[in-house]
Amino acid sequence: MQYPKLVANKESLKYNAKKIVKMCHDASIELTAVVKVTCGNPEFAKMYLEVGADIIGDSRISNVIDMRRAGVKGPFMLLRVPMPSEIPKVVKNVDVVLVSELKTTRILGKEAMKDGKTQKILYMVDIGDLREGVWHENAVGEIVEVSKIKGIELYGIGANLGCYGGVIPDVENMTLLSNIADKIRRQGIKFKVVSGGNTSALHLVENGTLPEGVNSYRIGEALILGNDVTNGRRFPFLRQDTFTLFAEIVELKMKPSVPHGKIGRDAMGRIPIFEDRGKRLKAIIAIGEQDVPSDGLNPIDEGIQVLHASSDYTVLDVTDCEKEFEIGDKVAFRLTYAGLLRAMSSKYVIKEMG
Ligand SMILES: *Cc1c(COP(=O)(O)O)cnc(C)c1O
Repeated sequence: MQYPKLVANKESLKYNAKKIVKMCHDASIELTAVVKVTCGNPEFAKMYLEVGADIIGDSRISNVIDMRRAGVKGPFMLLRVPMPSEIPKVVKNVDVVLVSELKTTRILGKEAMKDGKTQKILYMVDIGDLREGVWHENAVGEIVEVSKIKGIELYGIGANLGCYGGVIPDVENMTLLSNIADKIRRQGIKFKVVSGGNTSALHLVENGTLPEGVNSYRIGEALILGNDVTNGRRFPFLRQDTFTLFAEIVELKMKPSVPHGKIGRDAMGRIPIFEDRGKRLKAIIAIGEQDVPSDGLNPIDEGIQVLHASSDYTVLDVTDCEKEFEIGDKVAFRLTYAGLLRAMSSKYVIKEMG
């Protein structure tokens, strides 16, 4: 047995997937199941398609290629707007690609025609979060231009919120997107979807306030963790016990709660803050910032406090925990989205995906 180890709970993941597929399909919403946080795990992708997800979404072209090789049949949506240098791979492997630049779309069109194909695109509109997309005031004009590019099929328009600027999707900004779609259609341009967003927009489907016209979602976090970090909540109808991270205790000692000596910066360049609580029982686990951010760890046992971490160690205060720990014991954690993302991406974390 090797540690640290990340274990998936297949049953809970499937449970969440079925719930979200039903919720979206009941509201006539096409669902793209996003697997980027699992680094494009093909077993997850297959399960999502099996329970009825319409499309598999990932942000990295290499993940899409690996999933195809592993026998995932797709269709695939590439969620990060492509680098011009990766366009040949995109045209060969991706069914729908997000774009936000006319120039990139032209290169895509040329490459697609070279391959005797038409490339489906989802043109992104920035409705306030300040990440990818044409600023909403300029969207209609730019998308009309896009629709004329040869080798391209405008599959739809989309927006992403809650990721960079942390803007919360609401009736107002979804209506803005839906109105832009109407204006483009009034110019005689046809397309299938208006893709309203990610997990942070799911509450609008839940409470039935999603403006008419928005008919597609791209969901990752709610499927994988049952949470919505942007709105700071758990979905009451989803499971949160989808992943457990186990890390091993390598030191267990009583130590002061404040360092001894003049304080500079820590290994990560941060100035750590310590509260003096006297001597405490500290457990050091063999996992660090290279594998998981310390603020992404939520201990499952009550009374454990995650204090701080450097690249290879994380220090816990276990004084108030009822469990009697020993060297070599494993401590179990749930992870935040950021925690899971890094743990999945660390080659030092053993993955047991079930
Ligand atoms: C990651 C991503 C999603 C999924 O977001 P979640 O918050 O995990 O649901 C949707 N759309 C785009 C463009 C993304 O990059």
